[in-house]
Amino acid sequence: MPDDLILSNKHFLDAVASEVMVCVKCDLWKGRKKAVPGVGNPASRVLFIGEAPGQSEDLKGEPFVGAAGKFLDTLLSEIGFSRADVFITNVVKCRPPRNREPTPDEIETCTPYLNRQIDIIQPRFIVTLGNHSTAYILSRERLPFHSITQARGKIYETSILGLNVPVFPTFHPAAALYSAHYKQQLEEDFQLIKEQLLKRGLISHSTS
Ligand code: URA
Ligand code: SF4
Repeated sequence: MPDDLILSNKHFLDAVASEVMVCVKCDLWKGRKKAVPGVGNPASRVLFIGEAPGQSEDLKGEPFVGAAGKFLDTLLSEIGFSRADVFITNVVKCRPPRNREPTPDEIETCTPYLNRQIDIIQPRFIVTLGNHSTAYILSRERLPFHSITQARGKIYETSILGLNVPVFPTFHPAAALYSAHYKQQLEEDFQLIKEQLLKRGLISHSTS
């Protein structure tokens, strides 16, 4: 991967992050300790999109550092990635009070940041983790979305922001913490993700 691409993407992603840190566009800023713009490889071919920061993320300013994040790290390592290889972010960048779900208004107000991140990174594969990120991405494409249970484990060929990019929805890793069934399905979905990445030449056998 060319170093200048990493550097220029990093520059633009840092600019988005600086805006997110001081953003007051929706009421979620009032309860945050730290906003959570996203982390990872600025030129990653694969983008993971979660829901919203929880308590640990709000304290650290990084996505998926709590219990769900530990499981996400395991899933990533099973397909040959570390978190530094990929880019991880959320639909909403500040923690909703008491970890409630983000509201449609909050999602609408915050997602221009996500869209800019997608536009900068130009990922070749997007994994949506859970209901909210899947609903947001599929709705942009005017694709029907009923539930993550129905949508998961399949590829959707999309053209988000003019970018032809496959989207693969799966459960949110937090689901694995309370259900062995979801845990197993997440593990199966990550194997499908690996197959797709191999098939599309986005990872090689040696790194997988
Ligand atoms: N859950 C999410 O959706 N995102 C995080 O960053 C942490 C937990
Ligand atoms: Fe701004 Fe998004 Fe935080 Fe709301 S959640 S204050 S829109 S960064």
